[in-house]
Amino acid sequence: MRFYADLHIHSRFSRACSKQLTLSEIYKWCRLKGVSVIATGDYTHPEWLAEIKEQLSENNNGLYELDKNLAKEIDSLIPESCKGPVRFLLSTEISLIYKKKDRVRKVHNVILAPRIEVVEKLNKKLAKIGNLQADGRPILGLDARDLLEIVLETSEECILIPAHIWTPWFSIFGDKSGFDSIKECFEDLSDHIYAIETGLSSDPAMNWMIKELDNITIISNSDAHSPEKIAREANIFDCKLSFTEIIDAIKKNDKRFKGTLEFYPEEGKYHYDGHRSCNVRQDPKETIKTQAICPKCKKRLTVGVLNRVFQLAQRKRGEKSPNAKHYFNIIPLKEILSEIMGKGPATKTVNDEYFKILARFGSELGVLQEIPATKLSKHSDILAQAISRMRAGSIDIQPGYDGLYGEISIFDTLEREQLENRKQLGLAI
Ligand SMILES: [Zn+2]
Ligand SMILES: [Zn+2]
Repeated sequence: MRFYADLHIHSRFSRACSKQLTLSEIYKWCRLKGVSVIATGDYTHPEWLAEIKEQLSENNNGLYELDKNLAKEIDSLIPESCKGPVRFLLSTEISLIYKKKDRVRKVHNVILAPRIEVVEKLNKKLAKIGNLQADGRPILGLDARDLLEIVLETSEECILIPAHIWTPWFSIFGDKSGFDSIKECFEDLSDHIYAIETGLSSDPAMNWMIKELDNITIISNSDAHSPEKIAREANIFDCKLSFTEIIDAIKKNDKRFKGTLEFYPEEGKYHYDGHRSCNVRQDPKETIKTQAICPKCKKRLTVGVLNRVFQLAQRKRGEKSPNAKHYFNIIPLKEILSEIMGKGPATKTVNDEYFKILARFGSELGVLQEIPATKLSKHSDILAQAISRMRAGSIDIQPGYDGLYGEISIFDTLEREQLENRKQLGLAI
């Protein structure tokens, strides 16, 4: 079966994460988005793990299901058209801060696990190293190589995946505190790294420029800090709904792993270089000439993901890696509606329209990916046009930098004026 999987999200026990992140709410948004396999997030956190144990039950194949009564309650609240199974996969993210070769390193890793018993065994070991209670994404003073060793000793069924590998802070290739290669970070255990996560600010094409990643599966997850952000990036599989199959497909990068859904990387918070406080946004080509010195404050700019990829690249942009998979850039439906309707993505107007569309066509990823434009145009010509443009990549983006998201526009100024006129004539969308 073909399905979408999002293998890295957080619970409400992680810093800066929404209080809405309960298992029921996560289940609800998976149904609305059309996600079949979702990370539990934060299984290292004792209170969250207690909820996982109470509200989820094992499905015999390493995946978990929400309690029937809780699921029933949610099902009654969502459109009939948004059907489909939702399974949870045990997942956590660990933040490592440690010194190696005289430099402070900060690396985030996602660890997927097949069963609660394995999670409990791992948690016991990690609790001796640091405080698991303080944050759903615990911070440990542990070398990434040693964490991988502990994970493998606990269970060879687990998989450790370096998270959002290009973010300047907190990632394996990050400009601020990362490494230049997987080998430098994981040393003798590097062969146990089968996959990396692109993060929002990079896409597979950027990662194809790095030859060391040729035999590494490039996966994408949302790293959602609130339920609605689930599946802003995701993976496409064609296999059984089973932990072993999913992990095996990732490890072998074979036909069962179809590719990814991607944020437009320019929309990510660290795509370009710059200084937020100085209002300086810079193309890496410029930065290279100026040695990354801010033209305003003369301090070092925050070097973004694109620049860092160029630094480590052995291939030119546009060249494909031999094992490249397909990927598709998507824009969250509420953002698309927000532009069309000229209202914020969190407004009631946009929300009402969002649910109308879901009720008519089914889950969001289906609308963005699968429903033909001719069908969508029966609901709204402009919506069909917007989605066609998104699918074709013919949109305009002001790249994100130094922690600021990029800005997407699907329509140009003239078209937007025409939209405005339509609205004044009372034509909704
Ligand atoms: Zn992270
Ligand atoms: Zn500056």
